[in-house]
Amino acid sequence: MHQQPSRAALRQTLLGKLRYSLGRSPEDAVDHDWLTAAILTVRDAMVDAWRPPSTPVGKRVYYLSLEFLIGRSLNDSLGNLGLREALRDVLAEFGQSLDALEALEPDAALGNGGLGRLAACYMESMASLGVPAIGYGIRYEHGLFRQVIERGEQVERPEDWLSFRNPWEFERSDRAYEIGFGGRVEEGEGDGAHWVPAERVLAVSYDMPVVGWRGHATTTLRLFRARAVEPLFLEAFNRGDLAGAVSERVRAEAISRVLYPNDSTPEGQELRLRQEYFFTAAALRDLVLRHIRDGEDLRTLNRRAAIQLNDTHPALAVAELMRLLVDEHGLAWNEAWEVTRGSIAYTNHTLLPEALETWPVSLMERLLPRHMQIIFRINAVFLDAAAKTPGHPDLAVLSLIDEHHGRRVRMAHLAFVGSHSVNGVSALHSRLMEETVFAPLARMAPGRIRNVTNGVSPRRWLIGANPALADLIAETCGRERLDDPVDLTDFAARAGDAAFRERLGAIKHANKERLARRLKDQLGLAVDPRWLFDVQIKRIHEYKRQLLNILETIALYDTLRAEPWRDIPPRLKLFAGKAASSYVTAKTIIRLINDVASVINHDPVTRDRLKVAFLPNYNVTLAELIIPAADLSEQISTAGMEASGTGNMKFALNGALTIGTLDGANIEIAERVGEGNIVIFGMTAEEVAAERRAPRRSEEILSGQSRLADVLDAVASGAFSPGEPDRYRPLVDALKRDDTFMILADFAAYEAAQRRVDGLWRDAGAWQGMAAANIAGCGYFSADRSIRDYARTIWNLPPADWRG
Ligand SMILES: *Cc1c(COP(=O)(O)O)cnc(C)c1O
Repeated sequence: MHQQPSRAALRQTLLGKLRYSLGRSPEDAVDHDWLTAAILTVRDAMVDAWRPPSTPVGKRVYYLSLEFLIGRSLNDSLGNLGLREALRDVLAEFGQSLDALEALEPDAALGNGGLGRLAACYMESMASLGVPAIGYGIRYEHGLFRQVIERGEQVERPEDWLSFRNPWEFERSDRAYEIGFGGRVEEGEGDGAHWVPAERVLAVSYDMPVVGWRGHATTTLRLFRARAVEPLFLEAFNRGDLAGAVSERVRAEAISRVLYPNDSTPEGQELRLRQEYFFTAAALRDLVLRHIRDGEDLRTLNRRAAIQLNDTHPALAVAELMRLLVDEHGLAWNEAWEVTRGSIAYTNHTLLPEALETWPVSLMERLLPRHMQIIFRINAVFLDAAAKTPGHPDLAVLSLIDEHHGRRVRMAHLAFVGSHSVNGVSALHSRLMEETVFAPLARMAPGRIRNVTNGVSPRRWLIGANPALADLIAETCGRERLDDPVDLTDFAARAGDAAFRERLGAIKHANKERLARRLKDQLGLAVDPRWLFDVQIKRIHEYKRQLLNILETIALYDTLRAEPWRDIPPRLKLFAGKAASSYVTAKTIIRLINDVASVINHDPVTRDRLKVAFLPNYNVTLAELIIPAADLSEQISTAGMEASGTGNMKFALNGALTIGTLDGANIEIAERVGEGNIVIFGMTAEEVAAERRAPRRSEEILSGQSRLADVLDAVASGAFSPGEPDRYRPLVDALKRDDTFMILADFAAYEAAQRRVDGLWRDAGAWQGMAAANIAGCGYFSADRSIRDYARTIWNLPPADWRG
């Protein structure tokens, strides 16, 4: 445990921050001053836990990710440092409420969804385990857009998380790297060449400390901001050409201006490629410099650095590291290749073909001419070796260059070939990698694909978000269990005890009351916390099937109206999630949910039995409010399409039952919590694949499903959009024409599963027993378990450097 500051010291630091950093006295300070002073005070304690600059015995981990979905940091940091109560008391002396101040902290929304949140959880977990690690990413000026709902539709507004500065960060102007783009390549000696970029942009470092549990250690998140080398052309300025005077600055700074709002389809935009190269190149320059400063030869880099690529966005690291080693440090090609492959490992996050990144060769040649040469050479060597392998797969399929679609570089191929390890993020996903998209590459490199099932930080998603549940776990299993809640299996031992179940139910009830208050305040919607809270919160995407959920909601509504005597437990159907701004179908689904909500919520016949809510602007903070209050977790993706999911883990860890398909990590959740404590339905990945090979006609699927047919007719004919009857006709027509996501095919199974849930809900005691089994089974999905897997099987960290 780190040395904790005394209450008096904390008070003195806080007042000192207010006075000397903000120029305020307690009398004239406004709320934001108090928040900033509180953050600066906590940051001091984190700095004290920063790992001394001494070098680890083995490797440092470098985690490269285009996204870090951090959310707020004050609650997590206070919890990990054990300073929450002390700070609360000190603030109270000045009439300030810690909770009220925490609510003012903006979410650092530097990510779209699961991939970015995973990176944030892993940084915290590495700090908690003492893994020497640095995360690298982009300091976007505007994170993911802020979603507002106007007349049922998503409207995107810019997110302005930096408007009150970011008190957590340290600007490091001395760690600024010139990153080149464009230009030409001159011949060099041996394997090397000399790249003369036409344009240069500065990558300036901003460090955010991330403190681990009990303040043992702090890792660094180093985010780069783009700045112009030449901020102002005085000559143009003096001519009165104001736009020309700052043109370079505008162009350069565009790189870190916004996060691309898409987690599934790479937009073919040059700016995105510039972002990817920008942060990857800056990260590699930074880590190579550190290696040299440690007095090491670059030939040993692979023994000192584990470079983990979070998806293909930083895949250019393969070519950039080769360029640094060969062109700038004079290594021979083969030597450099060994170092590169020995250092880099790649995590794949999707098998959706449309989401696998490719870049036109012509764009690469223009923007990164030397890297294109290097990629061609890597490809030539690779295909040469492949051609000599007996029974090798088709070379056109193995090639890093896709020759069919106007010549494009396959970034996943580049990452695969340039890495010593490639991993999927759930057992199913890793198996499907091996069997489908990566099958030919896997045949050339047996053993390279591994699995590391995702995890979530128990500090943020259990102790921070649901402190009452954490206390019950501490009481049941011992407080020290919270130090490492990877094994919670004995929490289930008391599940048969009625008093224990009641306490568990009371904790859930209090969390539901809190959420109900929010629904009342924000949406004017009254819901009874005794109802079943049925929740689907995640990015809006066809494969995640919010449409399936809302169609079933309509079917339920029809039933309640037609047969009001039926004994069906009352439910809240809660949705939240953002749609990528260019994803028309996803936006239509948001509108449909809101239109359905406004019809159902105003119907006096069903008012005591069913309500539908869409909470706008889904982000980490909203997830922290909703997840502890959920009874039922909707994890209903089309089987084979969700790589892992992490939302599913957070819900189950907080005692929600999952209704889900055999997809991603749902399969492992079912194994851990037991089949009797989860509601599984629908087609398997294999069945989906078979159906895709020989799709049935929608008439065939719909025959014998009159309720679903009625629901579709109602939606198509404007029952939920009376002012514009045709609003949803195209959506329904498309669904009938092509059921790619198996919404019609899985509907009957899903509806039956929901009625099974109704049956389970009727026995409140048994339900709490199942909730306990979920909590107990999900310790396994701690990010600490995932990080230990990476550390042992991929990074090979020596035990001396971390707590294994
Ligand atoms: C956990 C989390 C996600 C990922 O959710 P999935 O259900 O796994 O897609 C996305 N966004 C936020 C804010 C999260 O906290």
